[in-house]
Amino acid sequence: MKRWIGGALILLMIGVLVLRGREADDRFERQIYSMGTLVTLTLRAPDRSPEALAALVSEVESELNRYQQRWSVRGSGALAQLNATLEESTTVPVPATLLPLLRKAKTVAEDSAGTFDPGLGRLVQVWGFDDAEHFRDAPPDRAVLTVAKRLPHRLTETTLQDGRLQAEKPGLMLDFGAIAKGAAVGAALDVLKQAGIEHAMVNAGGDLQVIGHAEGRPWRIAVRHPRPPADAPRLLVGIELQDGEAVFTSGDYERYFEFEGRRYHHLLDPRSGEPATGAQSSTVIHDDPALADALATALFVGGVEQFDALVDQFALEFAMLVDAEGRVHATAGFMDRADWLADVEFAPDADAQ
Ligand code: ADP
Ligand code: MG
Repeated sequence: MKRWIGGALILLMIGVLVLRGREADDRFERQIYSMGTLVTLTLRAPDRSPEALAALVSEVESELNRYQQRWSVRGSGALAQLNATLEESTTVPVPATLLPLLRKAKTVAEDSAGTFDPGLGRLVQVWGFDDAEHFRDAPPDRAVLTVAKRLPHRLTETTLQDGRLQAEKPGLMLDFGAIAKGAAVGAALDVLKQAGIEHAMVNAGGDLQVIGHAEGRPWRIAVRHPRPPADAPRLLVGIELQDGEAVFTSGDYERYFEFEGRRYHHLLDPRSGEPATGAQSSTVIHDDPALADALATALFVGGVEQFDALVDQFALEFAMLVDAEGRVHATAGFMDRADWLADVEFAPDADAQ
């Protein structure tokens, strides 16, 4: 009898937990490790069986892995092969799988006044930010850097015609690290949309895109604080997202080393070949995740000086920059939507754009 009561109680408790779980939300969440980061899929599809959801997750995983393979700088993927050809030669046919994103990246490079350029693969490598195994604790030798800077490192100095990319000299190495993650997040979400999912978020380590909404209200996300005060949450600003919006952030806190009191991070200024110095982080909200990714990098590198010009050039409604002093610059559209989660100092022109 005692045992029976115990069993019934446990069943009751489980029932309550399950009910509460259902009531709180009917979200399904899974994490996938791909593209060098933890990707969290969150979706609402209460009518799907666990088997159907598992199959969907593995479809998304395959798509992400395809992107990882395709856009890796080295290895056997399409971009790596293109890079291998460019090492010896000036002209290379661009495979169809690379062409659309290469075109987009080239356009952004040409319109972003030197701040975004995926041609700087060789420099990323010399700085040791291409691979965890190459990670450095001091800047590279000046002579090595000088040699790398003399090699071609601008996609803007190439021509793309009839599916062929032509560089001025051999030695160009393309690195799509600042745009491929955006394209991959978009592709992952496309897989979900194709399967009839209407409400989902794909979050690749803080860079994300949503469709639909979360339990009858907009998806709400938070952007990381680039210098969180001690004992405070690591969050800077909360934002509610509309169907289709992507939010991408570039920050100097992601991959860096410190040497003689200076921070050297993985966001390089293509004009100097050195880590950019004008910002701590930058965030772009846009319907095109690849553009959001690329433009977050561009805004970071452009810093305060080029913020307004880049915002105008790309007609960005929602963009924010935390400058090197930690002051926030943002477009009026961003300010309207921002729910600040930390004490922030605004640049004098923060809402006057
Ligand atoms: P993350 O991917 O770390 O969130 P980004 O999207 O800004 O950050 O991409 C950074 C990566 O892009 C670097 O690791 C490097 O491979 C490449 N990169 C660095 N600086 C630039 C730049 N100015 N333009 C284009 N690509 C860059
Ligand atoms: Mg980027």
